[in-house]
Amino acid sequence: RSKELGGNNYSFFSSSMNRLLEERVNLERLLHTALDRDEFVLYYQPQVDLRTGHIFGAEALIRWMHPQRGLIPPDQFIPIAEETGLIVPIGIWALRTACIQAKKWNREHRHPVHVAVNLSVKQFISNDIVASVDRAIRETGLNPNLLELELTESIILENTESVIATMNQLKKLGVRISIDDFGTGYSSLAYLKDFPIDSLKIDRSFVHNLSKNDKNTAIISAVITLARKLGLKSVAEGLETPEQLHFYRMEGCDLAQGYYFSRPLPEDQMNDLLDHSVWHTGFADDNRPKRA
Ligand code: C2E
Ligand code: MG
Ligand code: MG
Ligand code: MG
Repeated sequence: RSKELGGNNYSFFSSSMNRLLEERVNLERLLHTALDRDEFVLYYQPQVDLRTGHIFGAEALIRWMHPQRGLIPPDQFIPIAEETGLIVPIGIWALRTACIQAKKWNREHRHPVHVAVNLSVKQFISNDIVASVDRAIRETGLNPNLLELELTESIILENTESVIATMNQLKKLGVRISIDDFGTGYSSLAYLKDFPIDSLKIDRSFVHNLSKNDKNTAIISAVITLARKLGLKSVAEGLETPEQLHFYRMEGCDLAQGYYFSRPLPEDQMNDLLDHSVWHTGFADDNRPKRA
């Protein structure tokens, strides 16, 4: 059949594209029943306070544990969930589950434990995001100050007025808002003065090959200064080496996540980490520049 249409190349191409399409249709079909079958799980990656080495909290990262296919990472199913609208119920599940977990942590530990939850833009502009967040907080009894909602810069492309209105309603509930993957999504900084946000998460693409004359160091340093001058917290993403940790600490970054500290962990392993709660490696010398 494909020979008639254009020879072997076409045939190869079309069958591999068919396979991709088939795979996508399969995943979509499986995704519809995944919530009811309880196949999602949250992993937690610790966020470390760069001044003290204490665990500040954790970011909740969703995983799909399919009984036959094994672990499916979010990049493979979140886009499908967004296109199909399934992101709304999945997002509500993640929000609730993270709040229940954080409530538990805060009962068991003396230090406050914060939790950050990712929201996709589709979910944010769905008309009941404020009600969903409100319900999650009230039903779990979590102190809203301990909940942070992560949004990407692509939120800028939506209707600014209504985005600001929604953010203000969320802020009234007492939750915090952060911009995820900062520096990769949008070229204008003007939105930073209009949006009621609390922190900037510096994208991990900037952290590679840090050396004295690398342009990435200039960008990271400028973003940390920008955050401080705007009264926002700065958060480093993707720290993998002691050198990278040292650099971010010296620049005065507030918080950090990354494989250097820990990969995202299942609940029980995160519990163990919280029992220890302080990182000693990399924090022995407190000779950071003091800033007002
Ligand atoms: P993100 O929110 O920017 O999360 C950071 C990603 O970087 C995570 O990938 C994390 O495992 C990975 N990471 C953390 N530290 C390091 C490091 O030191 N080195 C490297 N190479 N990677 C590191 P993950 O868990 O696969 O999540 C990917 C994306 O999926 C997230 O990016 C987020 O945008 C989205 N996502 C995850 N959970 C949810 C959710 O519950 N709802 C929504 N809407 N999106 C989610
Ligand atoms: Mg995130
Ligand atoms: Mg990120
Ligand atoms: Mg990301």
